[in-house]
Amino acid sequence: MPATTRPAVVLGLESSCDDTAAAVVRRAGDGSGEILSNVVIGQADLHAAYGGVVPEVAARAHAEMLDIAAERALDGAGLSLSDIGGVAVTAGPGLVGGLFAGVMTARGIAAGAGLPLYGINHLAGHALSPRLTDGIAFPYVLLLASGGHCQILLVEGPEAFTRLGGTIDDAPGEAFDKVARLMGLPQPGGPAVEAEAASGDPSGVELPRPLLERPGCDMSFSGLKTAVSRARDGAAASAGGLTAGLRRNLCAAFQRAVTEILSVKCARALDAARERLGRRPRLAVAGGVAANREIRSALREVDAGMVAPPPDLCTDNGAMIAWAALERIAAGAVPDASVAVRPRWPLDSASPPMLGAGKRGAKA
Ligand code: AMP
Ligand code: MG
Repeated sequence: MPATTRPAVVLGLESSCDDTAAAVVRRAGDGSGEILSNVVIGQADLHAAYGGVVPEVAARAHAEMLDIAAERALDGAGLSLSDIGGVAVTAGPGLVGGLFAGVMTARGIAAGAGLPLYGINHLAGHALSPRLTDGIAFPYVLLLASGGHCQILLVEGPEAFTRLGGTIDDAPGEAFDKVARLMGLPQPGGPAVEAEAASGDPSGVELPRPLLERPGCDMSFSGLKTAVSRARDGAAASAGGLTAGLRRNLCAAFQRAVTEILSVKCARALDAARERLGRRPRLAVAGGVAANREIRSALREVDAGMVAPPPDLCTDNGAMIAWAALERIAAGAVPDASVAVRPRWPLDSASPPMLGAGKRGAKA
């Protein structure tokens, strides 16, 4: 039997930001995937007092928890290391301390158990996860919208990514988090802003749509956040403070603006991909922002067949890392026992670097 048709099982580790994650995933001979276990140990409590992720705190917690996460993932799958065919780890992009903790742990596990090791690009993990959850066929257009990243990619194979557009400044999740801070709401800001927006009037406040009219698929969210700040200060001054109603309207208006930007740019990306491929591909989404219901339903209007993994597989997880390795193994990838950390690692090295990329990892 050729190697690509044998079922394979991989342990995947992820520690590029503030989630320590490990998972065991199996790929069947027909190319379908099955998640045997998926463990995520979040660090939100550790960073809550600082209002954002503190890289040193994150790295230390990853170093402490990675072994535990890996052990729980194996237990959850009912397997031991001798049942595993390989180890996959996020090698970049991300916060360097966390990446080191993950890569060192994975190198140790692989060397100790005599297993092949694969260094995985975190963004490739996100980009390929709709194939794990929904079996979507190549090619497709992926919107990755998270706390640290924002790009629209044409995905044509496990290592064939073309960037069609991306943010030139903040990631949308980062904008949700900053707006939450401006409104005195808790972190992570996305769910808090969404909850407020649910009973707000989006037309109650006028906000800009940066770069919307400019051709292409690039986006900008930093000016939008500043506009929210100005609108808050102006309205609060006349109302004598930030009232609950004003807060709800500001959240609703902000969410509407992000939704419109993402849906217009995704529609444009699908058109660009159709020109390139000769047919319109499907749209898939990943990243924490894809959990937002208004954004999801707007994107469904752009493509009724849109694929959106369940929220726990949209945010950072080890299953997507194991899966990306399995896809690469099936395509004949060679393991690398001395995987190196790559804090900046663009998926599409042929595209020019984006303006502003790198403030918090390689956002674009
Ligand atoms: P990730 O970076 O993929 O782990 O996702 C985390 C980011 O997604 C954070 O910036 C969150 O604020 C954002 N997020 C999570 N849930 C939502 C939501 N319902 N709406 C908007 N943003 C969200
Ligand atoms: Mg991520």
